[in-house]
Amino acid sequence: MAAKIIDGTAIAAKVKEQIKEQVGQLKSQGKRVRLAAMLVGATAAGEMYAVRQGEACRAVGIEYELVKLPETATQAEVEAKIEALNRDPAVTGIMVHLPVPRHVDEARLQQKIELVKDVEGVNPGNLGMMVLGRAVNVPCTAMAAFELIKTTGVSLRGAEAVVVGASEIVGKPVALLLSDERATVQICRSATPDLAGHCRKADILVAAVGKAGIIGGDFIKDGAVVIDVGINRITLPDGTKRTVGDVDFDAAKEKAGWITPVPGGVGPMTVAMLLGNVVRGAKSN
Ligand code: NAP
Repeated sequence: MAAKIIDGTAIAAKVKEQIKEQVGQLKSQGKRVRLAAMLVGATAAGEMYAVRQGEACRAVGIEYELVKLPETATQAEVEAKIEALNRDPAVTGIMVHLPVPRHVDEARLQQKIELVKDVEGVNPGNLGMMVLGRAVNVPCTAMAAFELIKTTGVSLRGAEAVVVGASEIVGKPVALLLSDERATVQICRSATPDLAGHCRKADILVAAVGKAGIIGGDFIKDGAVVIDVGINRITLPDGTKRTVGDVDFDAAKEKAGWITPVPGGVGPMTVAMLLGNVVRGAKSN
């Protein structure tokens, strides 16, 4: 059976339409909706990412402010800027572009961002609120994977779910979201023996590792929902470069019921989730 492709680009476009409407309503109530993104020590890649992020915001009516600090900015200076953005009522979302210079502690910066403005959901306080079942902002990629699973209509209650990878921003929060829906969740890690055996039992399989093709076609249960979070740049034998996921897509799609492509799956949905979190911040103002 060939899987149905979960078209993250198309689903994200619909979500963005809804966000645009919400932004319009908030503005008509006199509310500001603004993302402040901090770039400490600009790199070409960081600048380019910020340009694209600004375009994504403006396309749905969200104001975008790029706060640039020099490479030499101290921890205290960056934290002071975050505190100023926390106090600014016009700013409804704050994020810090990574990487930051080596002398700056990114975890301490993330802890400084007010929970409701922490649109990436990286403040440990936000992760804690998730555990308590009182989520404010959930990490965007975890939320993207979860929302894509929900679009399949497959019941999560009682489903066997396997999450491969246990990072704080993807694997662990995805596992929690699935568990809160009463799925039976297993998290596989680098030390998991027989990864294939665990995956083969999964009605829902989320791969968030960062290793191209680690999930083979023979790891997939017939009819499973397969969400590929991985983003890996590989070089083909002819020297051309390609972006692929963690799942061997061509083989897996012959067994899965639903599957996300890479690119065009979780990536675009992650952007939509971030924009949604900026709007949530404005609603709570
Ligand atoms: P990460 O922090 O590097 O975590 C990787 C996880 O994979 C770790 O928990 C590690 O387990 C586990 N792992 C490594 N080798 C394994 C193996 N052989 N078997 C089972 N588990 C193994 O990665 P991340 O930040 O979660 O990102 C994962 C992937 O998602 C990357 O490709 C990244 O680029 C991509 N990503 C995509 C988006 C998007 O928007 N689409 C956003 C974020 C990340 P241990 O902890 O036990 O070592």
